[in-house]
Amino acid sequence: MTHAATLAAAGLRAADLAGGSLAVHSPIDGAHLAQVAETDPAQMGQVIARAQDAFRLWREVPAPRRGELVRLLGEELRAAKAELGALVTLEVGKITSEGLGEVQEMIDICDFAVGLSRQLYGLTIASERPGHRMAETWHPIGPVGVISAFNFPVAVWSWNAALALVCGNPVIWKPSEKTPLTAMATQKIMERALARFGDAPEGLCQLVVGGPQIGAVLVDSPLVPVLSATGSTRMGSIVGPRVMARWGRPILELGGNNAMIVAPSADLDMAVRAIVFGAVGTAGQRCTSLRRLIVHHSIREDLVTRLTRAYASLPIGDPRATTTLIGPLIDHAARDRMLGQLERARAEGGKVYGGRAVAAGVPQGGAYVEPALVEMPAQTACVREETFAPILYVMGYDRLEEAIALQNDVPQGLSSCIFTLDLREAETFLSAAGSDCGIANVNIGPSGAEIGGAFGGEKETGGGRESGSDAWKGYMRRQTSTVNYSTRLPLAQGVRFDL
Ligand code: NAD
Repeated sequence: MTHAATLAAAGLRAADLAGGSLAVHSPIDGAHLAQVAETDPAQMGQVIARAQDAFRLWREVPAPRRGELVRLLGEELRAAKAELGALVTLEVGKITSEGLGEVQEMIDICDFAVGLSRQLYGLTIASERPGHRMAETWHPIGPVGVISAFNFPVAVWSWNAALALVCGNPVIWKPSEKTPLTAMATQKIMERALARFGDAPEGLCQLVVGGPQIGAVLVDSPLVPVLSATGSTRMGSIVGPRVMARWGRPILELGGNNAMIVAPSADLDMAVRAIVFGAVGTAGQRCTSLRRLIVHHSIREDLVTRLTRAYASLPIGDPRATTTLIGPLIDHAARDRMLGQLERARAEGGKVYGGRAVAAGVPQGGAYVEPALVEMPAQTACVREETFAPILYVMGYDRLEEAIALQNDVPQGLSSCIFTLDLREAETFLSAAGSDCGIANVNIGPSGAEIGGAFGGEKETGGGRESGSDAWKGYMRRQTSTVNYSTRLPLAQGVRFDL
């Protein structure tokens, strides 16, 4: 399929693709896809005001009825899955099955949120005073700003939007400036769901296009009480304090530096598959990508041999080809950062396998690389950083405590895992003295989370939680109520204040 046909199939018209100031290129071959119109910062006040107007109406719509809108969104996404998945591949360079998987994740969170719309449960609490009842109720909070990263250009919006909508909140979405096209196509899908729903308020789901300066308006507006920001730790370190300075609630989903511990008892066949998918899937451009391998000395050599063999046979190339497992990096700057980081790793004592730029057998104009495996003498400075590319650092350990200490000794705290058949080791890894990450897995790699769990991480990953479990509480305001149905007015804690 030509690029033009992929764009058209995803519902993007000539008028959407021309005349604007934001140039969009495909990482597949560097082709110029569009000149997209950016939102004028002067218009942002109106965007936020529309969301506030929508909020006043939407918060009074019963939650199960709000869920109906999300159910319709899920239906529209099912119908558009192939076309939107292909557009993710074109705009981000994900291989076809990962592009489709991203849309499936959107469908899954819609299903979850529809059920949730009948389960926004509060609590009743035992009061210490006679004739009193205490309760906790969850209410809509207001417009939710969503700033998303390039590497999950549409799924991250859906994690936020599906929850925010059933919780009674409008959504204003600012996607990555690298991926406006998938966002525009998703907005059209949302508009079809809104049309079928019928009476949703105008301005319930808005899209704004542009770079950090457009995002900054959402960050700084007190009329946007919740701001979900997904991206680099650098971005989060700016956005988080600014949202908090105006008493907003940030949900930060930032960089990871995810590790796997491979213990002597591990099923190495399974571990190799998990390592390769975790480290090279999405060309190492997942927040949960596997970046550090901490291997028991007794199996290190064997595992590295198996991995170098597996790495040598990985098909790199056009992500639209069904046989390809590694597509391009997002752009040439990402490739240059990867090559520079490998130089640093060498200088810090690393032995690098692979990691070269690839020019043969791949579409010209894209930034294709061999994934790199780097044997490190220790967890040096470069290992402690997130490089958003397929670099896997390998380190050894003798005792599990040492491996867990290494695993935790980085600034980020997103995802982690252990491969072991030893129950004591597995439970120690999951215990209070184990992994300090938001996600900790056993005999599964660190990436590819299901939507049912709360997703997010600790430390410099930002502490936010999105998606499943009770992450919805981050999109609501909690109200504690005490009702006195007695004829007396006793004070709590036995305080006397008799007039
Ligand atoms: P990025 O930080 O460059 O940009 C992310 C978004 O933030 C973009 O929309 C950008 O326009 C916006 N932004 C940047 N500076 C801003 C500012 N000062 N004010 C307002 N908005 C601003 O990240 P990226 O390169 O698009 O994505 C890769 C990074 O995202 C990696 O670090 C990856 O680990 C992280 N990520 C994290 C998660 C997670 O859930 N933890 C998921 C996906 C990606």
